[in-house]
Amino acid sequence: MINGKFVDAASGKTFPTLDPRTGEVIAHVAEGDAEDVNRAVSAARKAFDEGPWPKMTAYERSMVLLRFADLLEKHNDEIATLETWDNGKPFEQAAKIELPMIARLFRYYAGWADKIHGLTVPADGPYHIQTLHEPIGVAGQIIPWNFPLLMFAWKIGPALACGNTVVLKTAEQTPLSALYATKLLHEAGLPEGVVNVISGFGPTAGAALARHMDVDKLAFTGSTETGKVILELAAKSNLKPVTLELGGKSPFIVCEDADVDQAVELAHFALFFNQGQCCCSGSRTYVHESVYDEFLEKAKARALKRIVGDPFKKGIEQGPQIDNKQFEKILKYIRSGIESGATLETGGERLGSKGYYIQPTVFSNVKQDRCHDYIGP
Ligand code: NAD
Repeated sequence: MINGKFVDAASGKTFPTLDPRTGEVIAHVAEGDAEDVNRAVSAARKAFDEGPWPKMTAYERSMVLLRFADLLEKHNDEIATLETWDNGKPFEQAAKIELPMIARLFRYYAGWADKIHGLTVPADGPYHIQTLHEPIGVAGQIIPWNFPLLMFAWKIGPALACGNTVVLKTAEQTPLSALYATKLLHEAGLPEGVVNVISGFGPTAGAALARHMDVDKLAFTGSTETGKVILELAAKSNLKPVTLELGGKSPFIVCEDADVDQAVELAHFALFFNQGQCCCSGSRTYVHESVYDEFLEKAKARALKRIVGDPFKKGIEQGPQIDNKQFEKILKYIRSGIESGATLETGGERLGSKGYYIQPTVFSNVKQDRCHDYIGP
């Protein structure tokens, strides 16, 4: 989506986006690379330097975001369907939690548009000192696949509220919902060239954006390893400022006076929510020894009860992992847990023979050093 229009990639290339329930192709999407990034950045630059967007009143900008929020609500179930199809997350989660949250988020940022102002600074002497907040220009944004539209919203919402223009690269695993939403943004009155969306791969399209000399600021959410690459590309090009939101392996701590049933439910949610594919997923649980045995029994029972299956079906708590790469990676870490002497309490295998489903898995007696291995989302 460049300059308000769906266009083919300059190379004519496409890549398939896959249904994680089956591994089958949903659609072929234009494969943007450096040339498409150039075209998108030019469109964003022109929209910033010459277009109406930065010159609009903040109130007018906020109205575009509010109309967009209304359109997201109107098309809630269509977008949630795309999100579940492309990503594998339970439809009920996408439709009832994420999409409504995204509409709210745009209303929140719409509210900020006319409340961003500078200061008048008291001066020692006959001087007048004031600060002025201005849009920075063209924002390059790169997002991951675990919450495709929420990541899109967190990136473009603040950039647009402040009057910037954007070139955003979606994750190669989940290109669909952002393209649909960008069409709605234009329906809401966004001028052409203000938001440009490139579908494509990291080392080609993503890297081209990170090192582009005409991108004024870069915002990235993804893995720590890629974050380091992005920072280097930004430093070696025009020293653009970079915002990084990276991964981790978060601990969940259960103290001796905890309500064990509640702690089990929360620890279960902290780990398994979104198929475990969260930047702050609680993938290691520390339990006080006085409640360890009780916690373990109940945590195991809760994991066994977790309902895994086709994310479009009602009542499903967990769908498939995003793709074969993550599926294999998780199974590898499960094997490594077993090999390193931890006790496999439940799960540990793939579920079914099609798609990327994995049994909810709980280990006990895990050695402290194994807890620090970063296993990704
Ligand atoms: P990743 O870093 O491989 O990919 C994220 C994005 O970066 C994708 O769009 C990808 O195409 C792009 N990319 C990859 N290589 C690139 C390169 N050389 N140059 C430019 N762009 C490149 O991340 P991943 O492992 O696929 O997935 C998700 C990660 O995101 C996890 O580590 C997760 O913890 C993290 N995450 C963090 C947050 C947060 O808010 N901190 C939120 C969601 C996800």
